[in-house]
Amino acid sequence: MSSVPEVIRATCCVAGGGPAGMVLGLLLARAGVEVVVLEKHADFLRDFRGDTIHPSTLEVVHELGLLDDFRSRPHQEVRQLFGNVGGVEFPLADFSRLPTHCKFLALMPQWDFLDFVSDHAKKYPTFRLVMRAAVADLIEEGGRVVGVRADTPGGPLEVRADLVVGADGRRSTVRERAGLRVRDLGAPMDVLWMRVSRKSTDTDSPTGRFDRGRIFVMIYRGDYWQCGFVIPKGGNEAVRARGIEAFRADVAGVAPFLADRVHELRTWDDVKLLTVTVDRLQKWYRPGLLCIGDAAHAMSPVGGVGINLAIQDAVAAANLLAEKLRTGTATTADLAKVQRRRTLPTKLTQWLQVQVQNRVISRALASRVPLSPPRVVRLFGRFPFLRRIPARLIGVGVRPEHVQTRDAFVTHRSGRGTGR
Ligand SMILES: Cc1cc2nc3c(=O)[nH]c(=O)nc-3n(C[C@H](O)[C@H](O)[C@H](O)COP(=O)(O)OP(=O)(O)OC[C@H]3O[C@@H](n4cnc5c(N)ncnc54)[C@H](O)[C@@H]3O)c2cc1C
Repeated sequence: MSSVPEVIRATCCVAGGGPAGMVLGLLLARAGVEVVVLEKHADFLRDFRGDTIHPSTLEVVHELGLLDDFRSRPHQEVRQLFGNVGGVEFPLADFSRLPTHCKFLALMPQWDFLDFVSDHAKKYPTFRLVMRAAVADLIEEGGRVVGVRADTPGGPLEVRADLVVGADGRRSTVRERAGLRVRDLGAPMDVLWMRVSRKSTDTDSPTGRFDRGRIFVMIYRGDYWQCGFVIPKGGNEAVRARGIEAFRADVAGVAPFLADRVHELRTWDDVKLLTVTVDRLQKWYRPGLLCIGDAAHAMSPVGGVGINLAIQDAVAAANLLAEKLRTGTATTADLAKVQRRRTLPTKLTQWLQVQVQNRVISRALASRVPLSPPRVVRLFGRFPFLRRIPARLIGVGVRPEHVQTRDAFVTHRSGRGTGR
């Protein structure tokens, strides 16, 4: 292992190969911008990520001409979402009337989605993905960020770039090293994340189940359920202190049809703690640096919209910056435009998430009596058009972005060209 850093030169260096970073990498490379994405893990195969690909993200996939390929890969199409309060199931959201090409929410394990994005990005000679490269620090010259230092198994790596993008998630090293100020909006809960096998007789709809003191979310992943058991913030030790047997009983209590399978949770090694954070940066940029996705605004799992928002940030950043980066004319004022464009959707979505956290989740977790569906939710069962409101908020969100960048490698007559 060498201690002399390998040096890569690119126009844009993206730290983090999650949904925000990979989609930005694809869009910039497609527009003819030399981009390097650094991802600290060896692959995308990690369980902590959500699996929801929303109609507005599918619209972006359509605009890129990749929808057929997306739909040919294993996924599940969900047209309605259901909730379950105190054992009473009710419809919550109906995506079938959305003004998008795909009137459904796709469930695709996130590692498959990131492989899909990476397969297409790698077709562009302007794209480079370096796995097992953990960004550790920024390189600054004259008050401007001009690159990053990363650790790799082969030794230190430096990437020098006109723009560094922090897309390294809610524990972003980039935003911390850049000294960007974070506003914490608070979250009253954490999530215990686990797998339980699925039987062919089970439903295949993702559901959220609420009962006294318990909230349980189940996401279909073929032959198993990815499950999230919501606990009060900081409550992990107390749950563990009661023992795995008591925890299995809690799971069976809120999802009785899993009672014959909870023994699959053999030890606490089968149950992972995911801490929930909701925050946002006051300023998303500095000269030479921009943060997007959870690095700019960590999202609560409420509504399962964080992946979508991260991708929308990437589309907006590419729309506003690609041509300027390609021609070497991007300024700090252009980075400010990205924040201005994405502030409204971020603030509104986080406001809604905090309302649900405080008014629904905190109360449900504190409740010691059986719960019944609130009146407004019962109306969703009686008046189907009402289900279009949550469908719109979850499926499309505020200010959906559309791809405005061109494919620099397609010529009018011959398909793929040189782009330069
Ligand atoms: C319990 C829980 C459940 C959730 N469920 C859902 C859901 O179902 N649907 C949904 O839409 N959202 C969900 N969210 C929110 C969602 O996970 C995030 O909003 C979304 O992943 C943000 O995408 P991102 O690309 O900005 O960041 P991330 O997805 O966090 O990606 C960041 C990437 O950067 C890499 N990285 C980190 N540090 C470095 C470094 N120093 N150097 C290089 N690489 C680095 C990471 O390995 C990762 O690949 C959930 C959140 C929580 C906490």
